[in-house]
Amino acid sequence: MQSLLKCIDCGAEYPIDSIIYTCPACEGLLDVQHDLDALQGRVSREFFDSRLGTLEHPYRSGVWRFKELVYPGAPDDLIVSHPEGNTNLYAAPRLARWAGLQHLWLKHEGENPTGSFKDRGMTGGVTQARLLGMTQVACASTGNTSASLASYAARGELRAVVFFQEGQVALGKLAQAVAYGATCVQIPGDFDTAMRLVRQVAEELGLYLLNSVNPFRLEGQKTIVFEILQQLRWEVPDWIVVPGGNLGNSSSFAKGLFELRELGLIDRFPRLAIIQAEGANPLYRGYRNQFATHERVKAKTLATAIKIGDPVSYDKAVRALHWTDGVVEQVCDQEILDAKAMIDASGIGCEPASACSLAGARKLVSAGIIRPHERVVGVLTGHILKDPELIVGYHTGQLEGIQATYGNLLHRLEPTLEAVRKMLVEVQPG
Ligand SMILES: *Cc1c(COP(=O)(O)O)cnc(C)c1O
Ligand SMILES: [Zn+2]
Repeated sequence: MQSLLKCIDCGAEYPIDSIIYTCPACEGLLDVQHDLDALQGRVSREFFDSRLGTLEHPYRSGVWRFKELVYPGAPDDLIVSHPEGNTNLYAAPRLARWAGLQHLWLKHEGENPTGSFKDRGMTGGVTQARLLGMTQVACASTGNTSASLASYAARGELRAVVFFQEGQVALGKLAQAVAYGATCVQIPGDFDTAMRLVRQVAEELGLYLLNSVNPFRLEGQKTIVFEILQQLRWEVPDWIVVPGGNLGNSSSFAKGLFELRELGLIDRFPRLAIIQAEGANPLYRGYRNQFATHERVKAKTLATAIKIGDPVSYDKAVRALHWTDGVVEQVCDQEILDAKAMIDASGIGCEPASACSLAGARKLVSAGIIRPHERVVGVLTGHILKDPELIVGYHTGQLEGIQATYGNLLHRLEPTLEAVRKMLVEVQPG
């Protein structure tokens, strides 16, 4: 039972241990293709459920619990796992009402070891680096990929080199990459420039590339939907709503769902809704004209995790939309930050880009595309503490062009009982 690499455009197949990131024949994106025929009858809902709560490596990880569908051939002793995954799925009735829905759950990927879903991909990618005998790994990053790579590389005793756009990385993420010991490089240029550079670095200097163009990352990330399904007792929701930056996550979800259906674990697909920031919306633009054109944009948004103008997994995301009868929506920074303030104030909390899920769901409900009674799962991609500066900026009304719609002010009082008594009457919580 061998997995292989398969081009999504021309169908060419390559051995699983090839050090390639796109198809050498046509430059198409690659899938890790598992032998689904051999897996028929070997995996089932009960089989994966039976591993819930185990303490055994690697199956206690929310990624490797699904090892047969992630990387069946990976030797357990090479797997670098924290373990990751096993994140909560929150029922969110108050946020559901705000979005105009009856049933909304939020899958909190910020609860991963380094605070974002990137850990699910990194365990797969760094494991493959070790399997290939690579000693140096690299990525370009808007922040979370570098934080995750830095941590996993340190655990796997590999050298990590990360590239970011100067002055554009949220403080929490930058601090993590530095602290976990990666070689950190800032470049004057945007994410898309950093991405082109790191591709050359991988090609010419032989570092192993761990951006989401690396298909082993997507194998890990698709387990987000596997876990959602387990947590919903395998009742397929009507919609899964996810932010879209480089489009690796959304692409991986559809691949995972496709495999589950082939193997008979589900009998239908949820519809996928991919939400982009208005200022970084190349997929949305393509979607609006039936993908007749493929535009690149100069990205601008306060949600830095999705500030990407030329997404690496664009073609896979288009495939994902076809498979799942999916839709693409865009939301502006005001909508993103207001949705974030709602999620934060509900006690759940997330980083700015994550709030696209709620902002997008709300917009799709008001457009009549998601219907109020449908069961919706939104994915929160990152942790609230990743970007503390933006939180303070929002609540103090100091972000240019942004209203503090749901602002929560910091109060200053004389230390007297009377002052507190007065304040408690005058200030009512929102
Ligand atoms: C990476 C990231 C995204 C974008 O995910 P893609 O798979 O690149 O579309 C969204 N939110 C957060 C917090 C991220 O770290
Ligand atoms: Zn090809």
